[in-house]
Amino acid sequence: MIPRSNRGFTREKAIQNGYDKGVVEFFVRLTGDFPEFQFVLGAKFAFRPPRTVVIGPPEPFSQLLVLHEVGHAVCKHKGFKTHVGRLKMENQAWEEAKKLASRYGVEVDEDFVQSQLDSYRDWLHQKSRCPVCGLTRFQTPDSQYHCPRCEEFISSQDHDEKSDHL
Ligand SMILES: [Zn+2]
Ligand SMILES: [Zn+2]
Repeated sequence: MIPRSNRGFTREKAIQNGYDKGVVEFFVRLTGDFPEFQFVLGAKFAFRPPRTVVIGPPEPFSQLLVLHEVGHAVCKHKGFKTHVGRLKMENQAWEEAKKLASRYGVEVDEDFVQSQLDSYRDWLHQKSRCPVCGLTRFQTPDSQYHCPRCEEFISSQDHDEKSDHL
């Protein structure tokens, strides 16, 4: 485990982690252009709200992945309450990543982007299936899933609606 304070991005550390010179120079430019965010090297690409971008180990789409995480940071994403909200954020972060990619001359592999989004769609689909009857459930803002067939909530919802309109 590398101590937290030593994980900040530097040219030397990125080279030690196996990154090519060209990619390292791209990181240097990117980190310089976004001094408001904190860039660290870590085990996988991630965004930690409110401002930490984790640069994972080298892989074929490292540049696109880091732009995606910067996309989350630029969009000020703060975590999510519903899984549908998560998919929306992933889409937004990719849209932002594509804009940044043209600015930095990074090639956008649309198949890769779609495969990343598909993994969220599959996950969302799996999460939303009712384990009892298989019907697609919906999620309320408190993150709870509800099956329209298995849960009898209509009378209480009706009640809530009335109180909202007081
Ligand atoms: Zn993401
Ligand atoms: Zn059900």
